[in-house]
Amino acid sequence: MAYPADVHDVVDCVNFARSSRVPLALRSGGHGYAGYSTGPGLVLDTSSLNSATVGGGQALFGAGVKGLGPTTHWPLRGCRSAGAPPSVWPGLWNADPATPRTVTCAFEQLSDSGAPGVPTVTGTFIGTPSALEPVLDRLAAAVGRAGTDRVIVPCDYTRAACEADRRGGGTLGPRVAFAAKSHIVREPLSPAAAAVMAAALEQLHHLTGVGGAGGLLIDALGGAVNDRLPGATAFPHRAAVGVVQYHSYWHQFTDPTHVDRRLDWLRDVHAAMQPHLGTGGYTNGMDLELTDWQVAYHGDNYPRMQRVKAACDPEDVFTFPQVVRR
Ligand SMILES: Cc1cc2nc3c(=O)[nH]c(=O)nc-3n(C[C@H](O)[C@H](O)[C@H](O)COP(=O)(O)OP(=O)(O)OC[C@H]3O[C@@H](n4cnc5c(N)ncnc54)[C@H](O)[C@@H]3O)c2cc1C
Repeated sequence: MAYPADVHDVVDCVNFARSSRVPLALRSGGHGYAGYSTGPGLVLDTSSLNSATVGGGQALFGAGVKGLGPTTHWPLRGCRSAGAPPSVWPGLWNADPATPRTVTCAFEQLSDSGAPGVPTVTGTFIGTPSALEPVLDRLAAAVGRAGTDRVIVPCDYTRAACEADRRGGGTLGPRVAFAAKSHIVREPLSPAAAAVMAAALEQLHHLTGVGGAGGLLIDALGGAVNDRLPGATAFPHRAAVGVVQYHSYWHQFTDPTHVDRRLDWLRDVHAAMQPHLGTGGYTNGMDLELTDWQVAYHGDNYPRMQRVKAACDPEDVFTFPQVVRR
């Protein structure tokens, strides 16, 4: 493990890994699904490079910055997820019009589809509870029903993250193993796609006696995410309205047969949704079984990323199974 104090230390570590051919893994938050930020060789942990400067219309974050406070979170209008099935997380509530459209569509269709459980919509609002109420009223009006339960929890950023975690079933507690697959949602879910999701939730219900858990998660995009053109950065899905993730969880001591059943569920729901949602996938939830991940994650940007890779890392010092290849 190396904990560089500054960029010079990083350069030394990378040069050491390159010259000695020791496998190198960069680690920032260590939060990536696939565990590529660790490995058998040198792990270069950038957590101390956590400076953040804002000015002149630009924000510059060190590679080790972990949480973004409300001031920076708000303009980014990111989406964060909490995963109790079936749940819909619309990012920040007053993001662009695509968000209510995606959320209401998913909510309505899942509620009407006979899926077991009660659909929940969860989000973060930066502002006061009284300012949030009319926003929620507008959402309820768009859905066409008031909802059975509305809970507003005023809190600071850290507590908001913990609260989202708790409502999502808890990820800050004991560690669990999990696998995930995803699709990019390019337009509001069709009734046929919602029916597939409902059937998947029904199957999940039947796995109740099997160790572990699972869920469907819809993160809305829109807002500042879609302000950029698809080729402006590596992330190409700028016209998408959301991301749907399929998750299976289990514990260290779960019977391997049960783990297999959880994984089979994951593969089945992903395959069943593919005809409805196409081939796009979310790079932040890497899926080790995805064969066309280059197109799924990076779309038309992949050839350009290959050129960058060839120019910046011709010796493949930075590598892992789904790395951009020259
Ligand atoms: C419980 C949980 C919930 C999550 N929720 C969300 C969510 O709501 N929304 C979302 O978008 N994502 C979510 N993710 C996914 C996660 O945010 C992404 O995988 C993110 O990329 C993790 O960032 P990290 O800094 O922890 O990456 P790490 O795990 O540290 O690294 C990820 C990859 O990037 C490489 N890397 C790290 N630092 C550098 C660097 N400085 N230079 C070059 N390469 C580097 C690593 O080697 C590795 O291959 C979630 C993950 C978990 C475990």
